[in-house]
Amino acid sequence: MIKSKQQGLLIVISAPSGAGKGTIINKMLEKNNNLWLSVSETSRPMRANDIDGITYHFCTKEEFEEKIKDDYFLEYALYANNYYGTPKKYIQEHLSKGQDVILEIEIQGAMQIKKLIPEALFIFIMPPSLNELKKRLVGRGTDTKEKILERFKIAYQEMNDVTKYNYVVVNDEIDVAADKILSIIKAERCRVDRIEDVFLNTEEEYMHEMLVDKDLDNNPLEIN
Ligand code: 5GP
Repeated sequence: MIKSKQQGLLIVISAPSGAGKGTIINKMLEKNNNLWLSVSETSRPMRANDIDGITYHFCTKEEFEEKIKDDYFLEYALYANNYYGTPKKYIQEHLSKGQDVILEIEIQGAMQIKKLIPEALFIFIMPPSLNELKKRLVGRGTDTKEKILERFKIAYQEMNDVTKYNYVVVNDEIDVAADKILSIIKAERCRVDRIEDVFLNTEEEYMHEMLVDKDLDNNPLEIN
């Protein structure tokens, strides 16, 4: 009688760099196999722990700009002097299979998605504190001091944009934060505006079914 829309949810997750969103998302993928994480394209240099085609699709700035011209991206942004973008292809394919699609993107891209697809779900992950954020950015040991300072400044500014999202989750414990986001997704699936055909049959059809129902004829409580 109640049918959820076949289409999966588009879930946009943003967080300041160093808030731990990558780890939380990996935990969510472990716990829920109906999620599909989109792999972005970027022109930033590879880090030691990057794997081309897994963490990102890496390309040059020029190649990225060619792809912008070819309308290859659903959204893209210039962030800390590097391009990042979500390839359009595959997203619709996964959504129409009923899979929930995660975009792990920064705020400029998230706001482009909000304009294009307002019914998407927007979740912001906060670090437990600014001190913790600083520790994580430094502890990563992958960037120069200038890069860390630049990222810290951007992260600080980004935290003010939390109000543009639907939900905020503080990452003080990875497992708990992942469960919170999975609960948000479950709750969103139950929203009335995400359900189609609440009553598949008309009232007359139901009344007819009731009239021909033999169980009703044998109802011992029936008073003549
Ligand atoms: P990082 O260089 O640390 O991997 O990522 C830097 C920022 O770019 C992060 O906030 C990350 O979420 C964001 N990002 C990654 N992929 C995309 C994308 O496809 N589009 C946009 N707009 N941002 C992205």
